[in-house]
Order: sequence, then structure tokens, then C-alpha cells
Amino acid sequence: MMPTKEAVLADTEHETVLVWLRRDLRLVDQAAIAAAASRGAKVVCAYVLEEHDALRPLGGASRWWLDKSLKSLRADISDLGGKLVCRRGNPETVIPALVKDSGATAIFWGRRYGQGERDIDAGLKSRFKDEGIEAESFNTTLLTEPWSYETTSGGYYKVFTPYWKAVKASYDAPDAHKAPKRLHGQGIDGDRIEDWGLHPENPDWSTGFEELWEPGETGAKRALDAFLEDGLRTYKDSRNRPDLENGTSRLSPHLSFGEISPAQIWRSVRSKISHGFKQEDSAWTFLSEVVWREFSYVLLYYNPEMGWKNYNTKFDKMPWRSNASRLELWQSGKTGYPIVDAGMRQLWHVGWMHNRVRMIVASLLTKHLLIPWQDGEDWFWDTLVDADPASNAAGWQWTAGSGADASPYFRVFNPITQGQKFDQTGGYVRKWCPELKGLPDKYLHEPWAAPADILKKAGVKLGETYPDAIIEHSKGRERALDAWEQLKEKQD
Ligand code: FAD
Repeated sequence: MMPTKEAVLADTEHETVLVWLRRDLRLVDQAAIAAAASRGAKVVCAYVLEEHDALRPLGGASRWWLDKSLKSLRADISDLGGKLVCRRGNPETVIPALVKDSGATAIFWGRRYGQGERDIDAGLKSRFKDEGIEAESFNTTLLTEPWSYETTSGGYYKVFTPYWKAVKASYDAPDAHKAPKRLHGQGIDGDRIEDWGLHPENPDWSTGFEELWEPGETGAKRALDAFLEDGLRTYKDSRNRPDLENGTSRLSPHLSFGEISPAQIWRSVRSKISHGFKQEDSAWTFLSEVVWREFSYVLLYYNPEMGWKNYNTKFDKMPWRSNASRLELWQSGKTGYPIVDAGMRQLWHVGWMHNRVRMIVASLLTKHLLIPWQDGEDWFWDTLVDADPASNAAGWQWTAGSGADASPYFRVFNPITQGQKFDQTGGYVRKWCPELKGLPDKYLHEPWAAPADILKKAGVKLGETYPDAIIEHSKGRERALDAWEQLKEKQD
């Protein structure tokens, strides 16, 4: 005989479900928490600062973000009567201990897609199954699972545009999961987030971060609302303008830590479109960018080594020229190309860089300087607050030419004309390279072309107050094309 609904509820009334939060640090539209709460169970939320050989340690800027995000979540959970139980160590031992200490009969989590993470999660799932503990995973970070869309000939999408068309034509965000009404966990031992040393000290290089960011679910919602109000209308045109404050949404770190779900974004934007939003084109362009993130996860899921190995293995024979001192000049924003230096300094000061400028700096590194894209990916991993295993690898491989649906290697961005075209007002370069502030717009992106009297008047001494160009553009371009030819010959 089937048990009645009341009997099932009575059965689970005192059951405890542990929800293991990872890159989904929020309470609203969080499928794992919602599933636990809907059973009428006691819901205990936990976060583990994972230490495991198969996992890439978080970079410095991400650690800064995580610190604030966890503290914000801790406060939100406490408002609902619960406790965010924090522990650190190997998840293969810490998670079973947490299940035991909380008395949970079930554990839920949101899925993740890197190979190391998948292996750990699969191992735990099978262990819990053997022990009679229910372990279930949910989609908490993507619009759709990486395996949801297949091309007509079978297999995953390797080209963005048809993938985007497929998603646009068929995706409909389900209703949002409500936040839980009550949470538990008081009395379970955990670490103090303050003791994890996530915030940098001696020196504290993060002071510029505070001005720009509000990590946490409230900050994410605020960023979305502000963008819908101010930025969405003009996004199609302004998204390539690094000199504009609100040209893009700056939602990337919030998405990366899962403080907002992509479905929440999708619903808000779609609802505007359904209500006759005039700049519909702009709204769809924005959603297509959100789907670039999904596409990157498709690529990562099917190519788990994408973070360090060429997607296109032809590039294994690329005649790279590793060069530590040139890499350092690039990292510290001293290449002598103003748009590149502005980008690298923005990254260092606020932990974020505009997308157009990411492409320009990545192109200079991998093409003009012929430095392996992995070195740039590593630097971004350490310094970006939105450092993301899928989007960072996909972005680097796209620019370097080795990725799926990549920009061809022979497309070498010209850092002078890119600067002139996208930072027309010069506001971006003047903000991040103040030593060039006095130069007229005409010379701002190529200071070496300015006559001596203009340089003098602007207080610029090339090689002293501002570096000489690290490599002449036409020479860098030629060298890159030459390397490309060599690579092609090696294939023949
Ligand atoms: P918006 O323009 O407002 O876009 C909205 C959202 O769409 C973003 O928050 C992001 O989640 C997603 N998105 C937009 N563009 C892309 C894109 N090209 N690829 C994937 N997702 C996108 N993005 C990261 O989130 N983490 C990274 O580590 C990362 N590394 C990158 C490295 C390189 C070399 C390049 C070229 C791009 C990289 N990107 C990365 C993609 C992109 O630059 C950022 O997502 C974007 O600049 C974030 O700013 P925003 O939130 O204002 O974007």
C-alpha cells in the first residue's frame, strides 16, 4: 500500500538534509536547498574550503571574493535561524564527517563540471550509496546541462552560433525556486571564516576591490537591477566600450560564485522583452553573452583538459617563445601599448578587466610576444575575481587561436587601432595610465608618434615616465604570422 502524503511528511519531519554549497553561494533559486526544504527536512548548509590534489587552488582575487561572499551568506543563513557550517580539507574525508556530525540521512549538492570535481563527487556519491545515505545532485549553476543540446549529426556543439540559436529557440527558464523559510545547523562545529586567511594581508593589495564590488547574493541582485535599469538598453553598442562605467553588467564574479543563477538573469531579461522592451536587440545580445558562458561549460565538460591543453592539438607544435621578463612587463602593465597597460592595471587594481580589453591583452601576449596562452590564463586565474575554469580557458584558447570556434591565429589584434576604435574618448587609458593623461587623443594610443613638443607639454618622457613599446606592432605581427606559417608547415 502506498503511504499517505501525511505519513511521508511525518517520516521526514525530523530528517536532516545536508546541502553542500560550492560555486552556488545563494539561497534564492538554489535547486539543492529548495529540494531539501520541500521535503520538510531540517536543512543544514555547509561550505568546504577544499584541499585536494585533483583541484586547482583558487587564485588570490577569488579568495578575496570568497571571503566576502561566505560572510554575506553566513549572515543570510543566520537570519533564517541556521548556521553556515564551514570546514576545510580534503572533501573525501570532510564531507562524510559533516554528514555524520549533522546526523544527515541525505546530502544534496549542485553539479560541477571540471574533471577533478566530477571524480570527487562521483566517488562520494557511490560511497554514500553503499552506506545507505541518499546523495543527489542538481543543476545550480547553468541554464541547461552541458549535455542538453546535441547537433543534428549527434555530439556536442563546437561552434557558438548554432548553439546559441538552439538555446534561443527552445530554452524557457522554469519558475524560480523560492528561498527556504528556515535553516538549521546551530551546534554543529565549524571553522571561523576569519581564520582561513582568505583576505590578503602584508600587503593587503585588495583595497581597490572594495570600491567596485559588493560580493554576496544581495550585491548580485543589486548589480542585476542596476544593469536592467541603466545598462541593458544600450548594451549592444556600449558593450565594447571600456571607457563607459555601465557598458556591461559586471555580473561575472557574481555568476562565477553562483550568487545569482543564470536563470534569474534570463527570466528578468525575457520578462522585459515580453513586456515590449524597445531595445529588444540589445536584450538578446546580452542573453547571447550569458550563453557564451554556457558554451564554455559545454566545451569544458567534453574537454576536461581544456584549462592547460590545446583544444586544437595542431597548436602543440607552435614555436612559442617563453620569456619571463616580457611576461612580467605584460603582467605589470608596462608593455608601452596604452590600451594593454590600462587593461592590465585595471585587472590588478579591481580584479576585473573589460571583455574587449581581455581580448586585446591576450592577443598581444600570444601573438606579438608568442608567449604560451597558458601563462596568461594562469595570471588571469590568480588576479580575476571572476576567474572561472570554463570561461577563462575558453577565452584564452579563443584568442590564441587554439580553441573551439576560435579567432583564427592570423587575426592579430592591432593594439593601436583597437584602442582608437574602442576607447575613443581616451577615458579608459587616462584613468589607468594617468602618466599619459596630458596627451591629445590623437596620440594617446601611440605616444611614440607624438612630436617632441607635444610629449614635453604632456610631461611624457618615453622610456622614463612611460615605457617604450615592448615590440613594434608590425614586427610583432610579422613574427606571429611567421610562427603560424611554421606551424602549418609542420602539419604538412
Ligand atoms: P557582460 O557583457 O555583462 O556579460 C554578461 C555575462 O555573460 C558575464 O557576466 C559572463 O558570465 C557572460 N559572458 C560574457 N562574455 C562572455 C564570454 N566571452 N565568455 C564567457 N562568458 C561570457 N569570463 C569569466 O566569467 N571568467 C573568466 O575567467 C574569464 N576569462 C576570460 C579570459 C579571456 C582571455 C577572455 C577574452 C574572456 C574571458 N572571460 C571570462 C569572458 C568575459 O571577458 C567576461 O565574462 C566579461 O568581461 C565579464 O564582464 P560582465 O559581467 O560585465 O559581462
